[in-house]
Amino acid sequence: MTRKIFYSILSVAAAVLLSCIVIIMGVLYNYFEEVRAGGLKAELEFAIAGVEDSGMPYLEKIHLDRCRLTWIAADGAVLYDTLAGTENTENHGERAEVKSALETGEGWSSRYSDTLLEKTMYYAKRMEDGTVLRISVSSATVGLLALGMLQPILIVAVVAFILSALFAYRLSKRIVGPLNRLDLDHPLENDTYEEIAPLLSRIHRQRREIERQFDELQKRADEFSQITASMKEGLVLTDRQGTVIAVNPAADAIFAQKQDSVGKDFLTVCRDREVGMCMKTAMESGHGEMQQTRAGRVYQLTFSRIESEGVSIGAVLLVFDITEKVLAEQARREFTANVSHELKTPLQGILGSAELIENGMVKEEDLPRFIGHIRKEAARLVTLVEDIIRLSQLDENTEFTKESVNLYAVAEEVADSLHDIAKSSGVEVRVSGVQQEIAGVRKLLHEILYNLIDNAVKYNRSGGMVDVTVADADDKVILTVSDTGIGIPAEHIDRVCERFYRVDKSHSKETGGTGLGLSIVKHAVVCHKGTIYIQSEVNKGTKIRIEFPK
Ligand code: ADP
Repeated sequence: MTRKIFYSILSVAAAVLLSCIVIIMGVLYNYFEEVRAGGLKAELEFAIAGVEDSGMPYLEKIHLDRCRLTWIAADGAVLYDTLAGTENTENHGERAEVKSALETGEGWSSRYSDTLLEKTMYYAKRMEDGTVLRISVSSATVGLLALGMLQPILIVAVVAFILSALFAYRLSKRIVGPLNRLDLDHPLENDTYEEIAPLLSRIHRQRREIERQFDELQKRADEFSQITASMKEGLVLTDRQGTVIAVNPAADAIFAQKQDSVGKDFLTVCRDREVGMCMKTAMESGHGEMQQTRAGRVYQLTFSRIESEGVSIGAVLLVFDITEKVLAEQARREFTANVSHELKTPLQGILGSAELIENGMVKEEDLPRFIGHIRKEAARLVTLVEDIIRLSQLDENTEFTKESVNLYAVAEEVADSLHDIAKSSGVEVRVSGVQQEIAGVRKLLHEILYNLIDNAVKYNRSGGMVDVTVADADDKVILTVSDTGIGIPAEHIDRVCERFYRVDKSHSKETGGTGLGLSIVKHAVVCHKGTIYIQSEVNKGTKIRIEFPK
């Protein structure tokens, strides 16, 4: 802008200067022309008086410096010329000034030389005898004058140009200075040209509007981040080229692993070809889905194309952690297969024995044994079905109503109910500790104690002991069931709580075990937000500790 103002001022100054020179020269030239014409007229009057008085000799004697006198007869013939004498024979009758003088008494004209550098002014007057006396004088034309004055004009022009350049520079700086110093953050607080006051108030209004829109955008961005930050699912937004625009912490944890992924190509962030292919499919067809295992977790990735007015502008990726679902599905399949197998074995036993009896292939004396076998297998089936029902109830996550339960009393109750079985196995069951109440589900606590004491008796030896203790430890209630039984080999300890897992299948079946007891215990403990710890040593015994939060 400074440059523009500078050049504008400079060109105006140059134009003014040039026109001044032209006008002044024109005016002066005209003035001098008039003065010269007056002088010419006076000189001719004087010469006419001389000629009328003395005739030709006057002209022959007269000595003229710059002027020239020509005496012309009424027919235009030159009678005498102070420059050429009488030798000039050319007729002057048609010359404008002569013609005018012959007709009206006087005539003016001027003619330029071939080079246009010289201008000759003619003044002719008719004398009393009808002849015409003409005077002429040559002078430089404006062009020649200008040419002659070129040097001073140039000097003046250069000086004027330098001065106007300096002036233009300072002026443009002075004009632009206040504009440069404008505080656009506070437009209305500026004390500057009143001409730009409307502009400043418009800037002020626009600033406020921009601030409002920015706040609104910020608010929305915050809302978006808050919502997506609290999402368990991973969310990634990309533009059309696949550059990450937004990503929530869950997705960052899955793909980026602490690197800042915003602004980067999503494929370089997730570094997986399959994901890239799925994203490409989504960009082409609108939707893409895939499953992927990362760091031991299974994820469902769903890509969807984002469109605006029919044009694809990017993609959104939602990532769901489906590990539990997949594991549950796998467990369900295994459970179904195990249940079928576990049901089939006793049923086949029952069927076989029943067929033998039906076909009369069992001797009379063996009949009680076969019938006893059928009863035993049927009882096993009932126990199995009951355990399956219990487990499926726990699986359904039914909300059990909790009440204050005296854990010690329940332990005594269970020990009593198992007293006969324990006695028949030569095992002594002892309950000790404190009368501790906990908020729990009586049925499930009974289930826990029954399975633990039952196992401790089952996997024990004649003369063995089972100790059940209830202890109070600050914020926990600790239930311990320890026995002096056969123990669990170390490599099996981690798996005994799995469904249908048995260390010794034949022993478990012999003792009527279903392989579901400890999984029911674990489930019931989880329902109470408790924790189960198993310690065992082969041939020494097993100690199972359960901690219930108060
Ligand atoms: P089961 O019906 O076979 O007893 P559980 O789920 O109760 O099934 O137990 C799983 C397996 O853990 C048992 O088959 C047994 O081998 C082992 N086990 C459980 N409790 C004890 C214990 N107190 N002493 C030794 N082994 C045990």
